[in-house]
Amino acid sequence: MPRLCVISTGGTIATSSDDDGIKRPSRSGEQLLSGLDVPAEVTVTELMARDSSQLTPADWDAIGAAIDAGVRGGADGVVVTHGTDTLEETTLWCELTYRGAAPVVFTGAMYSADSPQADGPANLTAALGLAARPEAAGQGVLISFDGRVLAPRGLYKAGGPDGVGFVGTDLGGSDGGLDGGLDKDQRPYLGALSAAAAPRVDIVAAYPGADAAALDACVRAGARAVVVEALGAGNAGEPIIDGVRRHCRDGITVAVSTRVAGGGVSPGYGPGAALVDAGAVVVPSLRPSQARVLLMAALAAGAPVAETLARWG
Ligand code: ASP
Repeated sequence: MPRLCVISTGGTIATSSDDDGIKRPSRSGEQLLSGLDVPAEVTVTELMARDSSQLTPADWDAIGAAIDAGVRGGADGVVVTHGTDTLEETTLWCELTYRGAAPVVFTGAMYSADSPQADGPANLTAALGLAARPEAAGQGVLISFDGRVLAPRGLYKAGGPDGVGFVGTDLGGSDGGLDGGLDKDQRPYLGALSAAAAPRVDIVAAYPGADAAALDACVRAGARAVVVEALGAGNAGEPIIDGVRRHCRDGITVAVSTRVAGGGVSPGYGPGAALVDAGAVVVPSLRPSQARVLLMAALAAGAPVAETLARWG
């Protein structure tokens, strides 16, 4: 029998509706597992019961520490139940900082545990099955959701009426397993880092008429780097470009991502080229949420930012 460790953190998979109809995490990891047919020996770590919008970088560290403890305790695979709102951040941070051989499979749900459409039990069953599969060993962090297996890098929550949930690189094969997976050099690893100790990185949105007030405020608040959620292929208005020039001159890192879901950044228009001339670094494809996580890790690791963003961004 494979040995698995389940770490519960909250999210919709653990929620039920209170008397006002508001969904709050109420179910433990043990409760989520009860009644599931699991061909493995499972231990449960009840780490937290939080809506994932409430998680902080310190919580990513706590999840990483629980994963390490599970692996040290002899788990062949780890499953983390997690909210979908910030799954893209937590999974990328864990991927950037975990190099163990035991696979770490995150899962969650689109529907509450008390919903007639509850998808948590099926998702958790699939995640456990994946974590127990020999081919998942060495694959680092994976996301098992809605019958698919996704990679952390490039993941984002999409939502939508069809309940798709996530967009990401599909690594799934037949039978809930992997279609080959990724080679080690296709997976980013920046070191065993503390997210809580990482430099502050903020996100600032560009929009028609935006000035540099938010950018300036972030830098005043201590940001060592800022991700500009730019327009289109990486463009912004003149006041933001001016602000980027000022802050880059002072040694702040500015990275350009885009608000276009599924779009990349390539500075082929005048304003995008001006941002680069002003000192900004391009994030080729990651959305702002994950560009921020990558920048935090790069700065914490002392890794060369431009090179790291070019390779993994
Ligand atoms: N608000 C929830 C969370 O992220 C949403 C979910 O899990 O689907 O915790």
